[in-house]
Amino acid sequence: MDFRFSDEQQQLRQEVRQFLEEELKQGLWQPSCDAWIMAYDPQFTKRVSAKGWIGLTWPKEHGGQGRGYIDRLIVTEEMLRYGAPAACHWFADRQIGGAILHYGTEEQKRELLPLILRGEAYVGLGMSEPEAGSDLASLKTKAVEDGDDYIIDGQKVWTSGGSYMNWIYLVARTDPDAVPKHKGISEFFFKADLPGTTVRPIVDITGGVHFNEVFFDGVRVPKTCLIGEKNRGFYQILNQLDYERSGMERLMANYPLFEALIQYSKESKRNGQPLAKEPAVRAKLAQLKIELEVGRLHMYRVALVMDEGRAPNWESSMAKAYGTAFEQRLASTAIEILGLYGQLAPKSKRVPIKGMAYHSYLSSKGYSLQAGTSEILKNILALRKLGLPSQ
Ligand SMILES: Cc1cc2nc3c(=O)[nH]c(=O)nc-3n(C[C@H](O)[C@H](O)[C@H](O)COP(=O)(O)OP(=O)(O)OC[C@H]3O[C@@H](n4cnc5c(N)ncnc54)[C@H](O)[C@@H]3O)c2cc1C
Repeated sequence: MDFRFSDEQQQLRQEVRQFLEEELKQGLWQPSCDAWIMAYDPQFTKRVSAKGWIGLTWPKEHGGQGRGYIDRLIVTEEMLRYGAPAACHWFADRQIGGAILHYGTEEQKRELLPLILRGEAYVGLGMSEPEAGSDLASLKTKAVEDGDDYIIDGQKVWTSGGSYMNWIYLVARTDPDAVPKHKGISEFFFKADLPGTTVRPIVDITGGVHFNEVFFDGVRVPKTCLIGEKNRGFYQILNQLDYERSGMERLMANYPLFEALIQYSKESKRNGQPLAKEPAVRAKLAQLKIELEVGRLHMYRVALVMDEGRAPNWESSMAKAYGTAFEQRLASTAIEILGLYGQLAPKSKRVPIKGMAYHSYLSSKGYSLQAGTSEILKNILALRKLGLPSQ
């Protein structure tokens, strides 16, 4: 097996790095952890769109670049490496555009794909509900036909970026009597400000506002917003979840912390000598580097599977479970190396490395929940790769 990137791919990586370096030089933004999901910067997204890096894998006739998933992973890896504020376009580019390409009507493709390509669709993912997280098929939000519309009633929770979204991708029940229950679910894509929609932010453990509750009270949505086949939404979702778990975000989203930690260890002294000379610190950092490189191989394997046209379900489950465990170890190691100062919040006077350790340590608890919990991902692996019986 040849693990090398092609000349064209290396050139692409170089181009993305150069773009991001230039942005940093101009002081347009500061690198941050979890920027892919928390840092909303419409102008940055516009500049990424102008580069043609949104919809990179889409066919050219739909405005994409017709490139492969490895190429896309190169772009996203660099965005994450630099902690770039890519949240405005991330969900739309990663999975919603692909869903519309797969399941949308010609009219939907004509209307919606250009919106995503221009970086103007800030999408919220309306899947989880208070009683339906891992068991998504239990969702209760309903969409009832009424003439040319559906009327939506119900509640979603943990909707990332809900305060910024201008479009929502919603999964709702369209057949309450379906047996089994997952056969009565459909998907919709519509504007997030329709009358009857209320977004209520949830303050997270870091004090930040990232995810939200979203309430639908008689929201009238035209039937043209149904994506794919009525009552087949659950099968479509399974495909999208593969995409959701296939990126580099759950390995590299805290890369700015890793870099800052190395720098901090070189510059800070303990007992008269640089931290980086302490054997225990060196070993911890080296161990993280080993784990990071193993994780990158997992991620590139997933992209390779996608480039071969196969569904990467167990591969992406394995990669995401590995990636989140790595990030949790990175956050814990940062707290160990920084000592008590590591627990200081970003605004504290003596906070080291901009409070990244504090942010990552607290946020990392959620990494193994979002986009599928590690237990669920391991179940997928057990079932689909190891051939173990279902529970
Ligand atoms: C930071 C963050 C961002 C998120 N963003 C979004 C978003 O944008 N949109 C959205 O729709 N959702 C979002 N979510 C929700 C996320 O998808 C759910 O939290 C996740 O699916 C788990 O559901 P739950 O929280 O209801 O936990 P539950 O499903 O109730 O699970 C609780 C525990 O039981 C375990 N468990 C459940 N079932 C099994 C089983 N069969 N076998 C073994 N163990 C099991 C789980 O692993 C977990 O440890 C986000 C979550 C987080 C933390």
